[in-house]
Amino acid sequence: MDLTAVTIPEIRQGLLERQVSAEEVVRAHLDRIATRDQEVRAYLSLSPERALEQARKIDRKMAAGQALPPLAGVPVAVKDVILTRGLKTTCASRILENYVAPYNATAVERLEAAGACVLGKTNCDEFAMGSSTENSGFFPTHNPHDLTRVPGGSSGGSGAAVAANLATVALGSDTGGSIRQPAAFCGVVGMMGTYGRVSRYGLVAFASSLDHIGPFGRSVRDVALVLQTIAGRDPMDSTSADVPVADYVAGLDQDVRGLRVGVPKEYLAGLNAEIGDNIQKAIDLFAKLGCKIENISLPHTAYAIGCYYIICTAEASSNLARYDGVRYGYRSRKYSDLRDMYRQTRDQGFGAEVKRRIMLGTYVLSSGYYDAYYLKAQKVRTLIARDFIEAFDDVDVIVTPTSPIPPFKLGEKMDDPLQMYLADIYTVNASLAGIPGISVPCGKTKSEPHLPVGMQIFAKHFDEARLLQVAHAFEKAGGFAIA
Ligand code: GLN
Repeated sequence: MDLTAVTIPEIRQGLLERQVSAEEVVRAHLDRIATRDQEVRAYLSLSPERALEQARKIDRKMAAGQALPPLAGVPVAVKDVILTRGLKTTCASRILENYVAPYNATAVERLEAAGACVLGKTNCDEFAMGSSTENSGFFPTHNPHDLTRVPGGSSGGSGAAVAANLATVALGSDTGGSIRQPAAFCGVVGMMGTYGRVSRYGLVAFASSLDHIGPFGRSVRDVALVLQTIAGRDPMDSTSADVPVADYVAGLDQDVRGLRVGVPKEYLAGLNAEIGDNIQKAIDLFAKLGCKIENISLPHTAYAIGCYYIICTAEASSNLARYDGVRYGYRSRKYSDLRDMYRQTRDQGFGAEVKRRIMLGTYVLSSGYYDAYYLKAQKVRTLIARDFIEAFDDVDVIVTPTSPIPPFKLGEKMDDPLQMYLADIYTVNASLAGIPGISVPCGKTKSEPHLPVGMQIFAKHFDEARLLQVAHAFEKAGGFAIA
């Protein structure tokens, strides 16, 4: 049995039936990483001692006849923007190259308390800014389905690790699509909960009003199990919501007959034919499952990209002011005075995209431009959120493509930031509205080399259970393998 091609329930069953030990599961992953990750390059750093120590703890529990925690022995990869005590947390940035986190993010704390084994930290776009993982300050990650292509981003390392069986599940972060888009590109499931559903404590801030931590997995059930563990109020994050966490797993098998599935016309116009084809088949499958398909409109969709790139850069310019060579990470060796030290440190420490965003963000917040850009964008954000709230009066979930294009070639969009920003056209809307979204595999492109296509599902605020139920019904009906 291949111990790396397993789901969470399979690991649990293997442990309970004493067919495998947690240590064997972790070792199988470390062995696979040692070979396969040389070409995929999903990980920035590994933490074998930490994972093995945790695995042995689980095995001792088993031997002592104690109950196993819900994620016992589950190998997890953690995006390198999420703090892990005692391990490097670089945000894939030179400026934090040697930064060791002094504490765990709440999501990591909860995963480890539930028995999960942290294998290492995954590559991403620097400070989670990008859609291809090519903005990493260290090296790009490759799509396991075609090594000449990008895995998506910014959580490309997490998506690729799960797709290549280099971890069972992973944590990523999503500000404007960074979990859902790489999940689509890598052919796995990735989910962003409602804003505030998962604590952001220990997530390095990019755009605080949009940042989320969320799971990747190879099945909807695995994603539900991880979300269940990390969701819920955390006193360390004042924006985490005091809303009870539903039993996501218990609801998975509920019948979807009669549910109203909305299809927004703005997301289908001018769509890449290969992707459109698969989405249409997915919609037909929902109809076959007894769902009611409703054509809807989200009229402010076209403004979302502009709105997102004003708000996220504004927040980034403020959040990244802390990397000044004094308090965190890298400091330039050569400088003439304090101002020059700041300048040299930031110039050498940050990559081109991060600098671009700091400049854009500073501009849209500057006196005289604030009203025209930042304030206007905040108003547009409200209109976008209202579109969704109104739509959910008539439908239970909304189905769209996750990405307008299949995984592109490494290097293809690096010279054109605007093209890269447009890769987020279907994901930033939900981020601005704060509603939950999931991307599930929805077959492959017809033409060679048959690349993964992702379908996105949205639900209303805090209706994660519904989202997972619908995604699971689609998976069970064979939707992941749409031909
Ligand atoms: N690709 C988007 C961006 O570059 C989203 C990033 C993210 O969600 N972290 O901002």
